[in-house]
Amino acid sequence: MTERLAVFFDPCVFNHDTGQGFFEAKASPYLPVIETHPENSERLRNMHGVLKNGPIAEVLDWYPGETAERADLQRFHLASYVEELASIPVNESRAFSSTTIFGPGSYEICRKAAGLAMSAASHVYAGRDRVAYALVRPPGHHAQPEMADGYCFFNNIGIALEKLRAQGMKTAAVIDWDVHHGNGTQEGFYEDPDILTVSLHMNHGAWGETHPQTGAVDEVGKGNGIGKNLNIPLPYGAGDTAYLRVFDELVVPMVRQHQPEILFIAAGQDASQFDPNGRQLLSMKGFYELGKRARSLADECCDGKLVLVQEGGYAVSYAAYCLHATLEGVINRTASLPDPLAYMQEDTAGLDDFLVRTRASHELAVATTRGESN
Ligand SMILES: [Zn+2]
Repeated sequence: MTERLAVFFDPCVFNHDTGQGFFEAKASPYLPVIETHPENSERLRNMHGVLKNGPIAEVLDWYPGETAERADLQRFHLASYVEELASIPVNESRAFSSTTIFGPGSYEICRKAAGLAMSAASHVYAGRDRVAYALVRPPGHHAQPEMADGYCFFNNIGIALEKLRAQGMKTAAVIDWDVHHGNGTQEGFYEDPDILTVSLHMNHGAWGETHPQTGAVDEVGKGNGIGKNLNIPLPYGAGDTAYLRVFDELVVPMVRQHQPEILFIAAGQDASQFDPNGRQLLSMKGFYELGKRARSLADECCDGKLVLVQEGGYAVSYAAYCLHATLEGVINRTASLPDPLAYMQEDTAGLDDFLVRTRASHELAVATTRGESN
């Protein structure tokens, strides 16, 4: 029997306007061509297009989703921060950093994005389908309880997860394979023993006031949450082989041990070979295999309950194809779209050593952090 996949989407997410310039910086006086900001509606239009028109279209069911209310937002974010966003006049823009732009009307759009993630999570948790995907922007995984960061304002997964918890869910796991560190999600659950947060990312480190977390292996959680955060800062140039081995050898054992009731994936495609914001080499095949593994892990640990929420992915065409491949993977469908661009070579020398070092560093950091907190 062909499995169905629930997609939560509202076209208002196209209206979040991040402006134009020299990529994510201000326009150059020397260049005649001005680009759209990398986190733009074109990327979502292509993702929406490939899901509506691509081979997978026949197994998707589309839902309009809900809108997050203040109470929903404030389960993850500080009330003062939510108020700060809510009080921005609807016709005004605000720059939260040089690259994190809140456009006219973005508050309502951000509420909708969080609501779509909430609806996807509730749909799966209630057993209506095993897998759901929320096609949203702006992304959420850098948004911390009290601040915006990295194109993100509300932490869509954090808000969805807290909504389920308010309804009785006890344990969950979040696997973040966006190419950037899921620092906002890490921060929100850093002292929480019930929520396992795992982030696979390129080793970009901290990036200023809005992003003090380093994404290093030694950030393992705090207090009761020690051991419940796993960071895997992959070297630049990591591709399909590295990501899949890391998933199998580091991520799967952690999730198995945690025994979540539901698995969330912060599903960015900016670890693809052609992403302007990433330096990694995942191909469509890699995303397909990550999708398959996420599904098989959810089947094993949490009765197949799997929620994917869109994060980054800035190669306007390739990200859409990588998304299609991911979703075919999560419903165990044969991969049906050819990869028009898979020609980059991955260097896997040093991968064995990386896996051994990362596992040992995490275990050592957990023991050290426990010792320091006693
Ligand atoms: Zn990203």
